[in-house]
Amino acid sequence: MVYIAASLDWITMAENKRNYQKELEKILDEVEKSGKKPKLLLHACCGPCSSYCLEYLTHYFDITIYYYNPNIDPKEEFEYRVSELKRLIKEMPLENKVELIVEHYDHNEFKSHTKGLEDEPERGKRCTMCYALRLSRTAEYAAEHHYDFFTTTLSISPYKDADRLVQIGEALSKKCGVRYLTSDFKKRNGYKRSIELSTQYNLYRQDFCGCHFSKEENDKRRADVLKKLQKDGKVTVGEIK
Ligand code: SF4
Repeated sequence: MVYIAASLDWITMAENKRNYQKELEKILDEVEKSGKKPKLLLHACCGPCSSYCLEYLTHYFDITIYYYNPNIDPKEEFEYRVSELKRLIKEMPLENKVELIVEHYDHNEFKSHTKGLEDEPERGKRCTMCYALRLSRTAEYAAEHHYDFFTTTLSISPYKDADRLVQIGEALSKKCGVRYLTSDFKKRNGYKRSIELSTQYNLYRQDFCGCHFSKEENDKRRADVLKKLQKDGKVTVGEIK
């Protein structure tokens, strides 16, 4: 993994002063005017997040989905998300054929890159390292295989920080020479549309990001909500599953 910066302190938590959706639309406009379909390597974490991005982008790009997610734990979860993604690509009527590359799974890669950040909350520094790990490998693959652009579906989630993703993507782009497709896919109602498409294709929608820390956080959030509902008499112990 050659592109990961030794320190990611340069990632600022700056306010989003750029309009990533407008920037994306400008690129799409350029692509349309060129009359060509550039090759896009689209890093993806699951079927639901991919659904909207594929619907939106296949008109403009020749897309390969790159599934590199060593953060996902356990392996069965990783495999189930892949199988749902494969099913989506098969069932969704897309303008052109979408390829899928499933990278090797080694959860130790995630553990070693996030060592010491285990207690960080979701959206904290552990997530920055996790984004960088996944985008770094994507950039590397894009350069090795002569893609015109790379990007990720991750920004579609309301829990994901588009600023950080763009900063990492653009820094990697300078190193690898492949253009980063600037985006914040939650804009233009992207997240809402991904929920609609997930319902339409009956996709598995996981309730945690991927690592076991996010699973624990989610379980705790859910338990707190249930406890409160129970306390308020809105739910009884027998109804809690
Ligand atoms: S919460 Fe998600 S983005 Fe953050 S470290 Fe875990 S898997 Fe990665």
